[in-house]
Amino acid sequence: MRQILLLIFVFFASQWLFKKLKRAQAAAGNPHPGPGNGAGAARASRGPAASSAPQLPDPLVRCAECGLHTPSSESVVAAGHRFCSVDHAHRHAARPTGRDAR
Ligand SMILES: [Zn+2]
Repeated sequence: MRQILLLIFVFFASQWLFKKLKRAQAAAGNPHPGPGNGAGAARASRGPAASSAPQLPDPLVRCAECGLHTPSSESVVAAGHRFCSVDHAHRHAARPTGRDAR
Protein backbone atom coordinates (compact mmCIF):
# COMPACT_ATOMS: atom_id res chain seq x y z
CA MET A 1 0.00 0.00 0.00
CA ARG A 2 2.82 2.36 0.79
CA GLN A 3 4.36 1.56 -2.54
CA ILE A 4 1.21 2.69 -4.34
CA LEU A 5 1.24 5.96 -2.42
CA LEU A 6 4.89 6.39 -3.31
CA LEU A 7 4.10 5.71 -6.95
CA ILE A 8 1.33 8.30 -6.93
CA PHE A 9 3.66 10.80 -5.32
CA VAL A 10 6.35 10.10 -7.86
CA PHE A 11 3.79 10.42 -10.64
CA PHE A 12 2.65 13.83 -9.48
CA ALA A 13 6.17 14.96 -8.83
CA SER A 14 7.32 13.95 -12.29
CA GLN A 15 4.32 15.63 -13.85
CA TRP A 16 5.02 18.86 -11.98
CA LEU A 17 8.65 18.68 -12.96
CA PHE A 18 7.72 18.04 -16.59
CA LYS A 19 5.33 20.99 -16.63
CA LYS A 20 7.96 23.24 -15.12
CA LEU A 21 10.54 22.07 -17.63
CA LYS A 22 8.15 22.59 -20.50
CA ARG A 23 7.34 26.12 -19.33
CA ALA A 24 11.04 26.92 -19.02
CA GLN A 25 11.67 25.58 -22.51
CA ALA A 26 8.80 27.62 -23.93
CA ALA A 27 10.05 30.77 -22.24
CA ALA A 28 13.56 30.17 -23.52
CA GLY A 29 12.60 29.21 -27.06
CA ASN A 30 9.74 31.66 -27.59
CA PRO A 31 10.60 35.35 -27.35
CA HIS A 32 6.89 36.09 -27.04
CA PRO A 33 5.57 34.23 -24.01
CA GLY A 34 1.92 33.49 -23.60
CA PRO A 35 -0.62 31.71 -25.71
CA GLY A 36 -0.31 32.10 -29.45
CA ASN A 37 -3.93 33.13 -29.59
CA GLY A 38 -3.17 36.79 -28.97
CA ALA A 39 -0.42 36.90 -31.56
CA GLY A 40 -2.67 35.22 -34.08
CA ALA A 41 -5.46 37.69 -33.44
CA ALA A 42 -3.05 40.59 -33.80
CA ARG A 43 -1.81 39.14 -37.06
CA ALA A 44 -5.34 38.60 -38.28
CA SER A 45 -6.32 42.17 -37.43
CA ARG A 46 -3.66 43.37 -39.82
CA GLY A 47 -5.91 42.11 -42.57
CA PRO A 48 -5.93 39.28 -45.05
CA ALA A 49 -4.24 41.56 -47.57
CA ALA A 50 -0.96 41.29 -45.70
CA SER A 51 -1.07 37.51 -45.62
CA SER A 52 -2.22 37.30 -49.24
CA ALA A 53 0.49 39.67 -50.40
CA PRO A 54 2.28 38.11 -53.32
CA GLN A 55 5.22 36.01 -52.26
CA LEU A 56 6.82 36.78 -55.58
CA PRO A 57 7.71 40.45 -55.93
CA ASP A 58 8.48 39.75 -59.57
CA PRO A 59 5.60 38.18 -61.43
CA LEU A 60 6.66 36.40 -64.55
CA VAL A 61 5.70 38.08 -67.79
CA ARG A 62 5.76 36.52 -71.21
CA CYS A 63 8.05 37.88 -73.87
CA ALA A 64 6.01 38.97 -76.89
CA GLU A 65 8.84 37.98 -79.19
CA CYS A 66 10.01 34.58 -78.05
CA GLY A 67 7.44 33.68 -75.41
CA LEU A 68 10.01 33.33 -72.67
CA HIS A 69 8.78 34.02 -69.15
CA THR A 70 10.86 36.71 -67.48
CA PRO A 71 10.58 38.45 -64.09
CA SER A 72 8.75 41.72 -64.65
CA SER A 73 11.64 43.66 -63.10
CA GLU A 74 13.95 42.32 -65.80
CA SER A 75 11.47 42.59 -68.60
CA VAL A 76 11.52 45.35 -71.18
CA VAL A 77 8.29 47.14 -71.95
CA ALA A 78 7.97 48.58 -75.44
CA ALA A 79 4.88 49.56 -77.41
CA GLY A 80 2.64 47.97 -74.82
CA HIS A 81 4.43 44.62 -75.09
CA ARG A 82 6.80 42.99 -72.68
CA PHE A 83 10.02 41.43 -73.79
CA CYS A 84 12.70 39.36 -72.15
CA SER A 85 15.41 41.65 -73.45
CA VAL A 86 15.95 44.93 -75.25
CA ASP A 87 17.14 42.93 -78.23
CA HIS A 88 13.78 41.24 -78.57
CA ALA A 89 11.99 44.55 -78.11
CA HIS A 90 13.97 46.02 -80.98
CA ARG A 91 13.42 42.95 -83.08
CA HIS A 92 9.71 43.07 -82.46
CA ALA A 93 9.56 46.78 -83.31
CA ALA A 94 11.70 46.40 -86.40
CA ARG A 95 9.65 43.56 -87.75
CA PRO A 96 6.87 44.68 -90.06
CA THR A 97 3.54 44.02 -88.38
CA GLY A 98 2.32 41.91 -91.20
CA ARG A 99 0.68 39.53 -88.78
CA ASP A 100 -1.48 42.24 -87.29
CA ALA A 101 -2.10 44.28 -90.44
CA ARG A 102 -2.73 41.23 -92.63
ZN1 LIG B 1 12.29 37.22 -75.84
